[in-house]
Amino acid sequence: MHEVLSADFDLFRCRVLVYAPSWRCDAHCVHCFLPRGARLRDDYDPRVLRGLLKTLPDEVRVISLTGGEPFFDQRRFLRIVSSIHAHGRYSAVVTNGLWGHDLRRARKVLSSAVRIGLRYFAISIDDFHAPALDDLEIVGLLNVARDVGLRVAMKGAGFSARRRWQRLSRCAELRWLPLRRGWESLENVGSARRLRPERKGMQGVGSGCANLLRPMVLPGGEFLACCSTRIFQAKGTWLDRGLLGERTAADILERYQKDFLIGGLLAFGPVTLLRRLGAEQKLRGRSKCELCITFLRDSRLRCRVEKLIGDDRSLRKEIVARLLLLQDTLNPVD
Ligand code: SF4
Ligand code: SF4
Repeated sequence: MHEVLSADFDLFRCRVLVYAPSWRCDAHCVHCFLPRGARLRDDYDPRVLRGLLKTLPDEVRVISLTGGEPFFDQRRFLRIVSSIHAHGRYSAVVTNGLWGHDLRRARKVLSSAVRIGLRYFAISIDDFHAPALDDLEIVGLLNVARDVGLRVAMKGAGFSARRRWQRLSRCAELRWLPLRRGWESLENVGSARRLRPERKGMQGVGSGCANLLRPMVLPGGEFLACCSTRIFQAKGTWLDRGLLGERTAADILERYQKDFLIGGLLAFGPVTLLRRLGAEQKLRGRSKCELCITFLRDSRLRCRVEKLIGDDRSLRKEIVARLLLLQDTLNPVD
């Protein structure tokens, strides 16, 4: 059924791929989406990285390392960055920063990484981290990262992370932090014109999902369409794109970028797709990702969306137009 909705051209291009080499992490955050057992086990498999790099299409320019905690094993982190660079790509990393209390040592590790292809550095500032860096420690580590030549950012989810981000951005030492760009230019395109103001934009539930521009490879080689905290429930849905080893990265990405269902989810987001069916009410009261997974696991709803996109030529044209605009408004590593 999936294949029927394949375009004969790329609907969008993925410039960034997220890769979690291992789920191992030194923190014990209560809200972590990873099961405790997974965080304690080091499940790195070098064959996954080799398989990924072997057939990765040229348009993927950046591999963003996540986890778990990518700096948990710093020597291995440097080896991975170096392999990525040897294949002509840059690396990005998202870290909890706990390894960076000693700024002199952090400078040494980060300078080495920059020399072998690390370009982007983001600290996660969610306030549920345990233990967590305080504001001064975050500022110190970001300054070191910027000094050694990295492009830096703070990342987090939810209102408390946003409040912290605003507080830190006002700090004199961090005035140089670039502001993230959003999807503003999509807000008055096509059916988005009919959305109430509070439902527009990246934070509104009516918006699309830019996460789909950064598919993710898990430590075991599973290739998923997004890096949501709900990924473990995505098996067998549109978001589950196959296993590296059984299929190549080139093949998975080629089908992915032509898939009208993924294109629809990317351009509209799950809520707007369901609103088109009049089925939004059924799933009210859930977070966006929760709603998305529930919808994708409901075969009846999913079939109705597949039929809607398959039957409606003007909807497919709108998806194409929105994705063209979207790619112009997003910074590839946002
Ligand atoms: S730092 Fe991230 S991966 Fe580690 S325990 Fe916390 S939320 Fe989980
Ligand atoms: S809304 Fe859906 S596609 Fe987007 S991150 Fe959440 S689960 Fe993934």
